[in-house]
Amino acid sequence: MAVSIAFRPQDPALAGEYDNMLACIRCGLCLTSCPTYVLSLQEAEGPRGRVGMARALAEGNLQLTPDLVSHELNCLVCDACSAVCPAGVHMDPLQVVLRSRLNEGARPSWNVRLVRAVVFTWLFTDMRRFRAVARLLWLYQRTGLRWLARHLGIPRLMGMGEAERLLPQLPAQFLTPHDETYAPEGSATDPVAFFAGCVMSTALADVDRATIRVLQRAGHTVSNPAQQGCCGALHAHGGDLSQALELAKRNIVAFEATQGPIVVNSAGCGAMLKDYAHHLRSDPVWVQRAAAFSARVRDLSELLMTAALPMKRKVPQKVVYQDACHLLHAQRISRQPRELLRQIDGLELAEIGEAGLCCGSAGVYNVTNPVQSKQLQQRKLDNALRVAPDLIVTSNPGCLLQLRAGLQERGSPIAVRHIAEVLDEASAP
Ligand code: SF4
Ligand code: SF4
Repeated sequence: MAVSIAFRPQDPALAGEYDNMLACIRCGLCLTSCPTYVLSLQEAEGPRGRVGMARALAEGNLQLTPDLVSHELNCLVCDACSAVCPAGVHMDPLQVVLRSRLNEGARPSWNVRLVRAVVFTWLFTDMRRFRAVARLLWLYQRTGLRWLARHLGIPRLMGMGEAERLLPQLPAQFLTPHDETYAPEGSATDPVAFFAGCVMSTALADVDRATIRVLQRAGHTVSNPAQQGCCGALHAHGGDLSQALELAKRNIVAFEATQGPIVVNSAGCGAMLKDYAHHLRSDPVWVQRAAAFSARVRDLSELLMTAALPMKRKVPQKVVYQDACHLLHAQRISRQPRELLRQIDGLELAEIGEAGLCCGSAGVYNVTNPVQSKQLQQRKLDNALRVAPDLIVTSNPGCLLQLRAGLQERGSPIAVRHIAEVLDEASAP
């Protein structure tokens, strides 16, 4: 007797990741790595449950319900499950396609829709606009408007209290890429192209400048292509894959005229840039250009392991290195930043419990899922403070702002810095 089983997806929007869903053998090895499962101990809040629901949806055996949407959107897309999965299930691209599909059938809350429409579509797609808004925010911080708005509770009334609290003190000078080149120190002249980022080149422009100085000292000629922009990670994880792909194509074009590795100092951006090849694999016009681009992408710590960065100064501090999920899980980079920090005279590196558990930042997760985000932030800080560090070092702007905000709230004097700033200090003449 013939048995009929739905082996083909009924939902064509999910077809591209169907094989990925089928790969899950339901072993459960991923459960204890998953931050939302660890918090809730619910199957639907773990990777196995999420893959199962996505597969049932793809096969037409489940309808979109608010519960299903909420369990899927609670995923941090941290890829901790992918890193331990013996069957090779990759949660990031699965969530990207799934969220794109959910966007068509779900009605998110008004503040999530506001973030998507204004921030993702209008702001992050044009770097001139992005810098203009960043300049207004700088004025907001410098003129006392911030103080006034906070005292009147305006950010909270607008549902943006958490986002406003995380906003760092913006620098007076942004790093605006204009096809400039930075000459190397020493005789080596290996070319690299720098991915400046949107948040990194504005809110954290000093980290970008520190990164360029470190690259120069490591013997690299650094080019900074003018036409580059946002990497598109926020769009992809927010369910707007088509906008993310537009941004990807723009970056591919911007870097095609440059030479050498494409260096990135933000873990989240780096993971997305390395994924361009996957996201554009079915586009005959872009498949090869995307693959060539992604093959060139290197995290700063990955690149520096192959260069000779002279460490000249002591940094006598006890340091906790905070693994960014998109570096540790998505790019499998954990040894390189630690080895670089260990090369610094006087620096003592301390390891913490649950080092691989997300800090709750995860793009805009701290705005869209403030409760879980806060729980993970506090858990991370409890683990870090247990070893009494002087400094927490990370490689991702999201982690940096999330932990800094949490420490400020606790009144802690412990600083949080990007690894590029520490390497810049240690290698300064
Ligand atoms: S580890 Fe992989 S195969 Fe096992 S349940 Fe998790 S996602 Fe499925
Ligand atoms: S990506 Fe992270 S939050 Fe999402 S299911 Fe995997 S481990 Fe859990």
